[in-house]
Amino acid sequence: MPDPYLDIRELRALLDHGECSATELCEQHLTRIERLNPTLGCYLRLHEQAARDAAREADARINQGDTSPLLGIPIAHKDLFCTKGDIATCGSKILEHWRAPYDATIVERLARAGAVVLGKCNMDEFAMGSSNENSAYHPVANPWDASRVPGGSSGGSAASVAAGLAVAATATDTGGSIRQPASLCGVTGIRPTYGRVSRFGMIAFASSLDQAGVIARSAFDAALMLRTMAGFDPRDSTSSERGVEDLDAFIASNGAFSEPGLRIGLPREYMDALKSAGYASALDSARRELESLGMSVVDVSLPSTFAAIPAYYVLACSEASSNLSRFDGVRYGHRSTDAESLEDLYRNSRMEGFGAEVKRRILTGTYCLSYGYYDAYYKKAMRVRRVIRDEFAKAFESVDVLLTPSSPGIAFKRGELSNDHIAMYQQDCFTTPAALAGQPCLSMPCGFHAGLPLGAQLIGAHFSDARLLSIAHAFQQATDFHTQRPAL
Ligand code: GLN
Repeated sequence: MPDPYLDIRELRALLDHGECSATELCEQHLTRIERLNPTLGCYLRLHEQAARDAAREADARINQGDTSPLLGIPIAHKDLFCTKGDIATCGSKILEHWRAPYDATIVERLARAGAVVLGKCNMDEFAMGSSNENSAYHPVANPWDASRVPGGSSGGSAASVAAGLAVAATATDTGGSIRQPASLCGVTGIRPTYGRVSRFGMIAFASSLDQAGVIARSAFDAALMLRTMAGFDPRDSTSSERGVEDLDAFIASNGAFSEPGLRIGLPREYMDALKSAGYASALDSARRELESLGMSVVDVSLPSTFAAIPAYYVLACSEASSNLSRFDGVRYGHRSTDAESLEDLYRNSRMEGFGAEVKRRILTGTYCLSYGYYDAYYKKAMRVRRVIRDEFAKAFESVDVLLTPSSPGIAFKRGELSNDHIAMYQQDCFTTPAALAGQPCLSMPCGFHAGLPLGAQLIGAHFSDARLLSIAHAFQQATDFHTQRPAL
């Protein structure tokens, strides 16, 4: 049986040379999941039968000489992507029994590419959270230390890749949900440019911020996944019509370095805010590594960085209060049996179906949008968003990429921040600015502190996804942080 930590290219070679079959790979993963998932909690449900069928089809295609990059590769989907005929809970009790009537665009594209979907990953309810403790089902343990959180909201996706329970996983990032868990679990996660990947069939939290992306073992694997997922989709009006580059070819040829003089910006505000000396020194080594690859370093300033968290929470909650109004007990999901009037039905279905954090956000958002407060909160937050976006645009006039921490520190203990919402929201202090501005950004492993992984964030100009991945790939060619694995 192959090592469960091989990357997509290594697996491709084994599959194409007949050294292992997609079916064997699928069985190996299912067995490993059976052994480790009870303690880790990465998966909410397995799609065993569908996975075995897909693996068999992949084997048939491989036998006919098909060498498509993702053919036969075992992956997982975050449980907010619709998979036709299957349950998609979005981590919520309100959707416990809800079956999706269609496939999300990315689900469809990955299936066509021959990827084998093992199951659906755990997440914070409606993607609201930074620790996976808001899942209505069960928490996810960090594979590096089971007493710690994996981050969130895509904690199940990040932990499954880190634990060798999926080769790659889809995920979403509204304010940090790909990058922060990737950082805490020691894996690579990219949030592409807003509009690069279709949101069709992705259960909405805050539509102007939500973006689908990937968590994988390496930048190269992330590129292989993203190339399949990305591209225009007429069913998502915000999806970009721009063509998708041949990401993996670009990266394999070190495309970002084809012109000399790449400049990395170090945003002063991020570095000054980083409290952990261990993290600061890991980032410093990452910077030196990038310099040795030929990049030059420039100090930059993004003065409004710390207005991002308050602006994000006003905007994300406002949009959530509107998006989640569809869960009314009539059209989707849980319906209360304790209702005498229509009003009761709405109230009780929502009261019984939503968890505490979701309710808090709906109430906050409704408040921010209400008459008399709209200008003071929503409109002001929109102005802050514009300023943040302008500051990024200005920074990218003088640098090609920004290097920052991905999270404030290493994975924290389960329960440590549960009673302090503000401290929990601060987990996203380094990730929300780029999300508000729609920039592509990724987190890649850059070191360890107290035996736990740390991530470096790269942020790029709009649609520079290929360049970001190429820089991360070059970094990973020169370092081995991304190949470290937890003892399981
Ligand atoms: N942790 C942030 C929140 O709770 C971001 C979540 C996300 O990106 N989905 O809103």
